[in-house]
Amino acid sequence: MRVLLTGGSGFIGSHLAERLIKRGDKVTSIDNLSTGKLENIQHLIDNPSFSHHTSDLLSEEGRILLEKEMENVDLVFHLAAAVGVFNVVKFPAETIKNNIEITEYLLNLAKEKMTKIVIFSTSEVYGKSKKFPFNEDDDIVLGPSKNARWSYAASKLVDEFLGLAFHNQHGLPVIIVRLFNTVGPRQVGHYGMVIPRFVEQAMTNSPITVFGDGKQSRCFCNVEDTIEALVRLTEKEECIGEVFNIGSSNEISIEELANLVKKITNSSSDIEFIPYQEAYSDGFEDMKRRIPDTKKIEQFTGWKSTVSLEETINRVWSFLS
Ligand code: UDP
Repeated sequence: MRVLLTGGSGFIGSHLAERLIKRGDKVTSIDNLSTGKLENIQHLIDNPSFSHHTSDLLSEEGRILLEKEMENVDLVFHLAAAVGVFNVVKFPAETIKNNIEITEYLLNLAKEKMTKIVIFSTSEVYGKSKKFPFNEDDDIVLGPSKNARWSYAASKLVDEFLGLAFHNQHGLPVIIVRLFNTVGPRQVGHYGMVIPRFVEQAMTNSPITVFGDGKQSRCFCNVEDTIEALVRLTEKEECIGEVFNIGSSNEISIEELANLVKKITNSSSDIEFIPYQEAYSDGFEDMKRRIPDTKKIEQFTGWKSTVSLEETINRVWSFLS
C-alpha cells in the first residue's frame, strides 16, 4: 500500500512510518520540521520504501507537493498539527490556522480519488466534561474562548466535523482518532509533555516540576500501542466514518507520576509544586482528569493497550540516556 503521512517526522509519525514500512508499505512523509525532527527518521532515510519532504503544507510549494503526492497514495494519516500545550498557549493564531486550513485542503484533495484518510484529533476535545470515562458520543464541555488552551480542542473539533461531513456528504472514507496522552521514545519535553520532562529532570537530579497540586490525573498510552491501534483501525472497513478513542485506562495522578519516575530512575530530585499561572499563563485551565472509554475500539478491532506505565517510563529513560 502507498501511504502518505503529514507530520511523518514527529514523535508519533516516525513510529508509524517505521511500522508501515515493516508491513511492506511505501511511505512518504511531508513535514515542516516545526516540531518534527530529521533525527527521528534518520534510520529510515536510506530505505527505498521511505521518502521524506521538508515542506510546509500552508505554503504554495507545500500545496503543490501535496497535490502531486495525493495522486499516488491509497491511505493518508494526517498528523501534521500544532502540538504541546506550551505551543498552543503561546501561538494560538498559528494553532488554529494550521489545524483547520490544512485539514480542509487535504480532505478536498482526498475527495478526488476517494482516498482513505485518518484525521488525528485529541482527548482535549472532551474539555472539562466530568462524565468519566470519556465516550466518543459524550457531550463536550469546553472552557471559554478567552483561554487560548481551548483553541486547540476547538480547532481539532472543527477537523472532526469537517472529516465527518466529507464522509457523510461525499462518501469519503474518513476515520477520526482521539489520542489520549501518547508517550514513548522521541517525545520531547519542551512543549509540555510531562513524562519526558520528568525523566529529564530526574536524570539530572533537578527538581521535578509538578504543576498545580498534582492531583490532576492522566492515562498514558505507549506509542507502540497507539500505532497498533492505528494500523488495526485502517484494516477494518467498519471503522470508516467513525470516531475512536485511543488510550490506556490506567489512571495516575501527576504527583504519583513524579514519584514513580523518581523511583524508577533512582533519582534524588525534589518534587516542586509550581502554580499553573507560573507554569503557563494567567487564566490557564487544566483538565482535572482524562480517562478514555476504549470499549468502542476494542469492539471494532480487538485492540487494548498492553505496555505498562513502568515499562514506558523505562523506554523513555533509556532513549534519553
Ligand atoms: N505537567 C506537570 N509538569 C510538567 C509538565 C506537565 O505537572 O513539567 C502536568 C500538566 O499540567 C498536566 C499533565 O502534567 O496536568 C499532563 O501534561 P501534558 O502537557 O503532558 O499533557 P496534557 O494532558 O496536558 O495534554
